[in-house]
Amino acid sequence: MPDITLNAVVLRATNYRESDRMLTLLSPERGRIDAIARGCRKSTSRLLPASQLFASGEFLFSERKNATTQYMSLRSAYIHDAFFPIASNYDALQNAVYLLEWCLRVIQPGQNTEELFSLLLTSLTHFAYGDLRPGRVTAVFLARLSVVLGVKPAIDACAHCGVSSPVPRLWDAAMGGVVCKQCVPSAPPVESEALDAFAEALTCDASFALKATDQAMRSMRTLMMRFLDCTLA
Ligand SMILES: [Zn+2]
Repeated sequence: MPDITLNAVVLRATNYRESDRMLTLLSPERGRIDAIARGCRKSTSRLLPASQLFASGEFLFSERKNATTQYMSLRSAYIHDAFFPIASNYDALQNAVYLLEWCLRVIQPGQNTEELFSLLLTSLTHFAYGDLRPGRVTAVFLARLSVVLGVKPAIDACAHCGVSSPVPRLWDAAMGGVVCKQCVPSAPPVESEALDAFAEALTCDASFALKATDQAMRSMRTLMMRFLDCTLA
């Protein structure tokens, strides 16, 4: 089978046997890729830098077949960025790993994931080299992830009956976001600052520079974590 070169970023790296690693990568053209990096944990291996979490660049794979399955074997890589500073900042590391987990949860093999790939790399760049609090980056990531996945919550109108700008604005993740009192009387109110932060997160540029306060960003992050959990369960 022919070799194939793909842009990708390493989402998961699990030690395997004495010196191998099983990698899961996100590729914009091919979605999820599972590959083995043989011998990558030997100190002399050329594959070592490409077999770490967050490593991104061009990866050359061979497609192999054994008796039962087809799999990819990593042959070489040209790493554009390893995002090394993330590892030395605990808060950034926790947030970055959380984003990788979301990617692992939503991607499939053979899927076009250009938007998600770009969103992830922008977020990792902020964690590694930016001044933003990591939690703010995660909040923007989650807001945009809902759009990338086509599950954006209703914000301006009731998700059930469509009435615009309901007062009060209540929240029901299972119903799709904002709801009105007539549709779901038992739903809790949602902070308007969190909804404003969400709207801002969708329109800001790659700087992720938002006017929203840290408190509003925290509320929006929690809202989106629960919303995505519920919607994608
Ligand atoms: Zn309604």
